[in-house]
Amino acid sequence: MEPYVEGAARAGGRGAPPVYAGRTVALLTQHRKELVITPVLEAGLGCVVELVTGFDTDRFGTFTREIPRPGTLVETARKKARQGMVLSGLPLGVASEGAFGPDPVIGFMPWNVELVIWVDDALGLEVMGTVANSRTNFDHLVTADWDELSAFARKVGFPDHHLVVRPDGADDPRVRKGLSDWEALEGAFAWALAQSAGGRVFVETDMRAHANPTRMTNIRAAAEDLVSKLRCPCPACRAPGFAVAGRVPGRPCELCGTPTPEPVAEVHRCPRCGHEQRAEPDGAPARAPAAVCPFCNP
Ligand SMILES: [Zn+2]
Ligand SMILES: [Zn+2]
Repeated sequence: MEPYVEGAARAGGRGAPPVYAGRTVALLTQHRKELVITPVLEAGLGCVVELVTGFDTDRFGTFTREIPRPGTLVETARKKARQGMVLSGLPLGVASEGAFGPDPVIGFMPWNVELVIWVDDALGLEVMGTVANSRTNFDHLVTADWDELSAFARKVGFPDHHLVVRPDGADDPRVRKGLSDWEALEGAFAWALAQSAGGRVFVETDMRAHANPTRMTNIRAAAEDLVSKLRCPCPACRAPGFAVAGRVPGRPCELCGTPTPEPVAEVHRCPRCGHEQRAEPDGAPARAPAAVCPFCNP
């Protein structure tokens, strides 16, 4: 078996698994995600992405809450990929799913997680590309004032980023989505204000991919993460997708040497055979700050 060289696989492509060159993969999306996913996958893997349309992916849930998302991000993405595989009859599927909320650490900054899942029924594996960051315009406003609304709209990048308007609160079924020019926004505002029992309309950012260029950028980054993982073959079975699957805590404290929750190693795992390897994270300090030490700073 040829030796495993991670650097070559990641940087030069010589170690990239040829397994997907020329293969067709189904992409189920109705919100134009193919614009960022297809070029990244085709350039990075040599595959051919077949767009599967004609299926309402909103059946798996919407960001505007008409249809709740019942499962986790991974479950929803997997359902979409599998639906695309069924409709196309292909053993390879890819799909994407995102979520928005407050920053998990700071709490009040908006946060975006994007996932692109790769399902391969021929090899029996599943690999996920992810990105999580605060690059998002996710926000809302309740107002009766057009000036306040137009200031909000400029702040969140309207009209490149579209808006959603409702008369009475986040769950009002009366809704105008995909507002993409000032005239449409003004009309929707007047409509909602006239309908509103409380006299204040609910405005929010439209988080659907085609309505949100910032989100598209994050979906592209998640697709790039997926490609870099798929280009790493397992040293044991050569299947693609040998990537970080977890971190081992225990980096010693800089003062007293007590193991801390900071990672001391990464675990790379094969999605097919389960082979694992420990690796020191690149550029990580050997010692953890005393601030995170359970002995020095309990
Ligand atoms: Zn393997
Ligand atoms: Zn300590």
